Amino acid sequence: MNIHEYQAKALLSRYAVPVPPGKVARTPEEAASAASGLGGGRWLVKAQIHAGARGKAGGVVLADSPQSVAEAAGEMLGRRLVTAQTGPEGLPVEAVLVEAASDIERELYLSLLIDRGSERVAAVASASGGVEIERLASEQPEAILRFQVHPATGIFAYQGREIGFGLGLEGGQIGMFVRILEGLYRLLVEKDASQIEINPLAVVAGGELVALDAKLNFDDNALYAHPDVEALRDPSQEDEKERRAREHDLSYVTLDGDIGCMVNGAGLAMATLDLVKQCGGEPANFLDVGGGASTERVTEAFKIILSDPKVKAILVNIFGGIVRCDLIARGIIEAVKEVHVGVPVVVRLEGTNAGEGRALLANSGLAIIAANDLLEAAGKAVAAAREER
Ligand code: GDP
Ligand code: MG
Repeated sequence: MNIHEYQAKALLSRYAVPVPPGKVARTPEEAASAASGLGGGRWLVKAQIHAGARGKAGGVVLADSPQSVAEAAGEMLGRRLVTAQTGPEGLPVEAVLVEAASDIERELYLSLLIDRGSERVAAVASASGGVEIERLASEQPEAILRFQVHPATGIFAYQGREIGFGLGLEGGQIGMFVRILEGLYRLLVEKDASQIEINPLAVVAGGELVALDAKLNFDDNALYAHPDVEALRDPSQEDEKERRAREHDLSYVTLDGDIGCMVNGAGLAMATLDLVKQCGGEPANFLDVGGGASTERVTEAFKIILSDPKVKAILVNIFGGIVRCDLIARGIIEAVKEVHVGVPVVVRLEGTNAGEGRALLANSGLAIIAANDLLEAAGKAVAAAREER
């Protein structure tokens, strides 16, 4: 789960990581009075969306009077902001963060994340902040500094100092940097964050280090332990289909293609996506209906898949290990009748009572395309989607 920059910065402050003074606003008037309240002569107005690259997309504006703060906020609020990270529909801007502007001397990059390869928390830093780290990593890998944290010891101060010197920091900045790293690490561990990205971590006039931007991502599977974090969820920033799926305990991820996939089991779902691709198609989603694929879950899954206008065909791939295929077949028949599925549905049933299940589908009077194995099913779904286009 992601949270907004203003929420992330409030959390950072609690871990002694310096952030600029700022206030969230939901109307242009609130933005102007936030600026007056903060004082100073220059402010940043920052669109609050769950995506970065706002700067280049007009979502970060420098203003020099409360009136121009209100104008900038008025331009952003109530619109959708499209950035390089949002996809073409963009994300709705319902709040802006008004901050006292800092005089930036240098922009650094700093992040902590879970490195799956080493099974440890890794710190990644670079003296070239502000730019996209992915591009830097491919074009100038030597400009990226990193170290791993042993879970039993946490970050050693010497590791922080080494990176600090590598970033060209000096004097008191080294100690500041080590404290920031330690605060971020404590936040990551205590709140089960999976990634913290500070880009830029700025050296401002006077030499202080300040986190000018903050992106926090939390492990969904640990949210039950952190109601305070869960309370920061903003559904307006999340995919509607993924939200509905979560409410029904279905694992669903939206993808770009046009073949809706309904599968029981995460591994089988991934194998299904691979085969769709191998047959020349593009999956519209990953969907695991789970082991107990009841009629209700199958019906809800159909509804979620069909709410995606891109979907041109549906591939149902069920392996009856724990569940019985005849029960699944009944579920599919009821769901197709209830939901009024307007696109071709290809079904592959295998496992316990597969024969009975197939017979039920064949005699249902519904236009369901049967397939005997997974490769055949994927091929038929790809062909059906092609015809629908
Ligand atoms: P992002 O584009 O979504 O990553 O948004 P950021 O918060 O990182 O802002 C983008 C850029 O705006 C930063 O890289 C800075 O160059 C600039 N910026 C952000 N805060 C300040 C500030 O307080 N003062 C100045 N002068 N520039 C800032
Ligand atoms: Mg940034």
